Amino acid sequence: MRKQLYMEELSNFCRWLKKNFVPKPGDHTRPARCWSEKDFLDNRIVDAFVIVLKTRGCSWALNHGCTMCGYFNESTWKKLSEEDLFRQFETAMEQYNGEKIVKIYTSGSFLDNQEIKPVVRKKILQTLTKTTVEMVSVETRPEYVSYDQLEDIKKIFRTKLLEISIGLETANDFVRKYSINKGFTLDDYKKAADMVKKNDFRLKTYLLIKPPFLTEKESILDSISSVKKIMDCTDTISFNPVNVQRNTVVEYLWRRNEYRPPWLWSIAEILKKCKKLVKDDVRIKCDVAGGGKKRGAHNCGRCDRRFLSAIASFSLNQKEEVFDKLECRCREVWYDQLEIENLSFGSLTDNIPLTHPVSWR
Ligand code: SF4
Ligand SMILES: [Zn+2]
Repeated sequence: MRKQLYMEELSNFCRWLKKNFVPKPGDHTRPARCWSEKDFLDNRIVDAFVIVLKTRGCSWALNHGCTMCGYFNESTWKKLSEEDLFRQFETAMEQYNGEKIVKIYTSGSFLDNQEIKPVVRKKILQTLTKTTVEMVSVETRPEYVSYDQLEDIKKIFRTKLLEISIGLETANDFVRKYSINKGFTLDDYKKAADMVKKNDFRLKTYLLIKPPFLTEKESILDSISSVKKIMDCTDTISFNPVNVQRNTVVEYLWRRNEYRPPWLWSIAEILKKCKKLVKDDVRIKCDVAGGGKKRGAHNCGRCDRRFLSAIASFSLNQKEEVFDKLECRCREVWYDQLEIENLSFGSLTDNIPLTHPVSWR
């Protein structure tokens, strides 16, 4: 009963934080962003073209929302016409330069019919089959994965690879429910993962580094134990270290000095340990949004750039030796924090004087 009340309060709080939010006005025929980057496909480093479409927003975020997610800040919060949505994709494709991978992000779920109408999804995939792209990558919550949905995609997309990404965040149901407010269980993920694999699609699973209410050490342990639980059902594990996004529970805590984004030391530790756990054909990667900034994963400021480039290199080449040479005085501060936090009932922030103070930017 008490847990149920907490859940309702957390959900209501996620909703309350958006109460004054006004969606940005803008041209709904243009995508939010698109760019080219490097990625890995079947033992090759290739170019990938990334498109972020503006949609009405993630259905879960419009009703509740996850404690760390501010993607809704980019959504329109109102229905878009099918023509406008497809026009966004066409506008983005004007910059497509034959990249082997196309990633389509919607700040929600590509397979959610409320967010992307089936007719638009079909037209997007049909257009991509006529290009030289080899793999298309999309994201979705597990409840939108069904045999019918996948069968429809297969009919169009027979000659290309499709990667479906699911943000599981953690394999621990308690943490996903009470710390992230994600709204689905490990079993829901496993059922969706099974359907994806049985249909010969690729599966990428996102895990979150340092959800709110966990200490740095608990978060490291949570990431490692999550990998142990899912490494046999996914092709790629992609870590997302929390960055502090606007109008979220994480931002609320951060502004009150009750949350610190993860240390880059922790990320390096997680990647090294997890790479040793998985089979050779499972890729481990990590995109550090806002890395080196106060709102993103950071160390002391002096060594952040070296860490970020080691993490980027590891994500591409899978060689954990890149972390071996990383050294900085702030390692001791990080160690201390891992120990002290167990006594402090929560995440320590940069404002708390530590035993080996480092200069802050
Ligand atoms: S993390 Fe994903 S599921 Fe959660 S609110 Fe954001 S877009 Fe929706
Ligand atoms: Zn440092």
